[in-house]
Amino acid sequence: PSISKLLIVVAVSGGGGLVAYSEAKPYDGTNTVNAAEGVNNKKKVVVLGTGWAGTSFLKNLKDPSYEVEVISPRNYFAFTPLLPSVTCGTVEGRSIVEPIRNIIRKKNVHINYCEAECVRIDAENKKVYCRSNLDNTLDGIEEFVVDFDYLVISVGARSNTFNIPGVEENTLFLKEVEDAQKIRKTIIDCFEKAALPSLSDEEKKRLLHFVVVGGGPTGVEFAAQFHDFLNEDLVKLYPHVKGLVRITLLEATDHILNMFDKRITAFAEEKFRRDGINLRTGSMVVKVSDKEISTKEIKTGETSSMPYGMVVWSTGIGTRPVIMDFMKQIGQGNRRVLATDEWLRVEGSDSIYAIGDCATINQRKVMEDIAAIFKKADKDNSGTLTVKEFQEVLDDICERYPQVELYLKSKQMCNLVDLLKQSKGDDVKESVEVNIEEFKSALSQVDSQMKNLPATAQVASQQGVYLANCFNRMEECEKNPEGPLRFRGEGRHRFHPFRYRHLGQFAPLGGEQTAAQLPGDWVSIGHSTQWLWYSVYASKQVSWRTRALVVSDWIRRFVFGRDSSCI
Ligand code: FAD
Repeated sequence: PSISKLLIVVAVSGGGGLVAYSEAKPYDGTNTVNAAEGVNNKKKVVVLGTGWAGTSFLKNLKDPSYEVEVISPRNYFAFTPLLPSVTCGTVEGRSIVEPIRNIIRKKNVHINYCEAECVRIDAENKKVYCRSNLDNTLDGIEEFVVDFDYLVISVGARSNTFNIPGVEENTLFLKEVEDAQKIRKTIIDCFEKAALPSLSDEEKKRLLHFVVVGGGPTGVEFAAQFHDFLNEDLVKLYPHVKGLVRITLLEATDHILNMFDKRITAFAEEKFRRDGINLRTGSMVVKVSDKEISTKEIKTGETSSMPYGMVVWSTGIGTRPVIMDFMKQIGQGNRRVLATDEWLRVEGSDSIYAIGDCATINQRKVMEDIAAIFKKADKDNSGTLTVKEFQEVLDDICERYPQVELYLKSKQMCNLVDLLKQSKGDDVKESVEVNIEEFKSALSQVDSQMKNLPATAQVASQQGVYLANCFNRMEECEKNPEGPLRFRGEGRHRFHPFRYRHLGQFAPLGGEQTAAQLPGDWVSIGHSTQWLWYSVYASKQVSWRTRALVVSDWIRRFVFGRDSSCI
């Protein structure tokens, strides 16, 4: 298009930002949005995503010397822990979302928002290529490029289908508010269809067979919520089909909720069996057609199929295509997840950070650092440490790498003697000297199974807060570094590395009962924990508006039951 065809829209607001779009311009990288150029010398920060990580970064960024451009296809923040409640109408979808413009307008930092999706990150030229997901009547201007000085990638993850045939086409995911609303509508549709007089009993049974795939916290919570919805509301409304309803929960490993304490797992499995939920562990889905789901028993290799009315797929998360493309560019193409260092900076790139579910702290470097900690502690090079020295090393490792601590705790190995038993057998005495090599070999077994930080809202939001604080103190810490002496390089790092504080985790199990695993390995299960769940989730809401809406939804549900209308 000729220059005369260019339409420049200039929007100056707050600290003075300039947004330029060109009309009918092909997607060639010249439709450039330059948030600050020509207006001031502010550093341009581009934030991708308005989920837990991105929003907590924006909420905590205080330094007005940045010009921020937020790009996300979702113009709101969603409180995902309440999504399972939305599937059954316990809480309305609108009650758990807060418009991102409401969040950013209260800031003294100039922040501009664009409802668009980033389709490519060009790390070398410091540009992101974006496409608006609004309708296509914008005549070409829906594609544009944004320059950045710093990029914060917080695009989250997508549902992982493991490329199992038919999953994408025939199952429902539970990731976004729309997904939860779709599940709610599908449940009611299945009941209404089954209530039609013309249907055979077999077809009714098929329609009323609800399958949940994945025994992690989300799948389990959904199954529990759905069981309550069924027993407290739907059976009263559809009495003639109530005997035909079945809920099946499929899990490939031997137990559900296997990241929780064993007591919680056992309680949940027992409760589900009592509730009549068909719990099938050790069962892997191999194919999903439009009416049947096929599984394979892991132990016996036996395959079978069962008809279903609705399948909810909740088997964990995978990397988004834009991140996979970016990983190839920066030499991380052989990894499954984008790797950052402990300061959340993408490895191999200076000014790009990645937080939340889309990234993970590089485990290999962590193990190298752990080896270096041992080396440093072994002052006389004897290859052994005293128990006291060993305890200090262990504390240091857990302090730096919370994922090691979490792993050790989850295996009930957080205590030194337990750990030593792993490497030396059962006859450990407190006075023994610890052989570093022996311990390192025990730790390498730990390493091979060691989980990354969990992909949770807690991690994502703490990373957002941490990174915003780093940005707020960027200049000050350039002059006065605060991080510990690095082992790999010379001198101090500008900042302390990111440190995750695990505040505990809930697993709602239905029937007004919740299990909680709290710091210090406290386990609490039952009705009182459900009240703790209500209070924590009410207090964690992002605004007073959503808090009021969520609490009033809970009260409405207590008084009138859940709404089963199909809208
Ligand atoms: P998200 O919150 O997913 O946000 C990603 C953002 O990026 C979104 O705004 C998205 O629109 C945007 N985006 C996507 N693609 C692009 C693109 N190409 N360009 C720009 N923007 C893009 N965690 C807990 O700690 N406790 C719980 O109880 C809990 N319950 C959960 C229940 C459910 C049903 C689900 C799905 C998750 C739950 N989680 C829970 C996990 C938690 O929601 C995630 O760990 C958290 O959302 C991760 O935050 P994030 O910012 O990385 O990603």
